[in-house]
Amino acid sequence: MSPKIAIIGAGIAGLTVARALSAIADIRIFEKRRGVGGRMATRRIADVSLDHGAQYFTIRDHRFRDSLKSAQANDVVQSWKIEFASLGDDGTVRRVNPHTERYVGMPSMSALPKLISIGLDVRLDSQVAAITGDPCRWFLHLADRLEGPFDWVVAAAPAPQSAAVLPFRFAHHDAIGVVEMNACFTLMIRLTCDGRLPYAAARIDDPIIDWISRNNTKPGRHQAPCLVVNSNAVWADANIDKPLEIIRHHMLAAVQRNIPLAPIEADTAVIHRWRYANVQKPAGQSYLLDRASQLAACGDWCIGGRVEAAYLSGAGLGDALCEIIEASE
Ligand SMILES: Cc1cc2nc3c(=O)[nH]c(=O)nc-3n(C[C@H](O)[C@H](O)[C@H](O)COP(=O)(O)OP(=O)(O)OC[C@H]3O[C@@H](n4cnc5c(N)ncnc54)[C@H](O)[C@@H]3O)c2cc1C
Repeated sequence: MSPKIAIIGAGIAGLTVARALSAIADIRIFEKRRGVGGRMATRRIADVSLDHGAQYFTIRDHRFRDSLKSAQANDVVQSWKIEFASLGDDGTVRRVNPHTERYVGMPSMSALPKLISIGLDVRLDSQVAAITGDPCRWFLHLADRLEGPFDWVVAAAPAPQSAAVLPFRFAHHDAIGVVEMNACFTLMIRLTCDGRLPYAAARIDDPIIDWISRNNTKPGRHQAPCLVVNSNAVWADANIDKPLEIIRHHMLAAVQRNIPLAPIEADTAVIHRWRYANVQKPAGQSYLLDRASQLAACGDWCIGGRVEAAYLSGAGLGDALCEIIEASE
């Protein structure tokens, strides 16, 4: 009989493990949100859709490149050919990394995880609070039910959230414990007019914000002008529990300090809090696997905070679990 495996988290890492194992195991994914993709996220505001998590991704590893071939062939992934700039505190604009190829999902960043999830058993609105039991008899505790038994459980949530649900007997709690993740606030602005910025995306040298992009310059976004603004990590960590209205006020002021944006032009401005956004210090191992307890963990935080790192972590764990399962047959 196929082993039963529970995966916690339907971000790119969790979905990649699931895809790798789906032919030889009975997989069920539990995701606390209403949709798949995790930090590859898109949100609708007024009449526009904005990518408020990962802005784009790069491809350095051949394995990630190969995995994207069919998504590219079907136009679910396309290159974002932009002028990428760096904005100094004196207002100077410098072009940076003109040769780096950047990719986005089409028509939104969440399109890629949605494609990977097709045919997988994903339970949405299903937050896992705890895992109890023993190897081959693991149970997941959700708000309204118990799920299981499972032979294996894979935690594919950000490091602190994975550590919170993995049982004490998981052998790699120390490795998760060294991981440091930063927060981020994302401000999404629907504009009334466009075209006054001489770049599509820029890193900003400012104490509050560090990124502005014109989301409507990405391929496939035929929509009204809109901006995505990210806070810098130090400021976000220091202000993570402040009311969102105060954060919104500070970030809008920072935007207006840096670019020619009159208050009237910011038609609608909505803020999103990411408690665990980027990886400051990774675990330094591609994934964490405890064969004895039949528990494992993966995610960008194993390697370094990027979409590609999340994929590679999930793919590496998928291979390791395939080998174990096939050897036990
Ligand atoms: C604002 C921002 C900008 C970024 N920009 C870039 C960029 O430009 N380029 C780039 O490469 N990367 C970027 N990143 C990072 C990139 O998004 C991540 O590296 C990648 O998406 C992580 O994937 P993951 O699968 O490891 O984790 P996630 O995408 O976080 O997936 C984990 C999933 O687990 C779920 N979960 C958590 N706890 C539980 C629980 N208890 N029960 C059930 N489900 C649970 C979460 O809801 C989530 O869906 C950015 C991230 C943010 C936030």
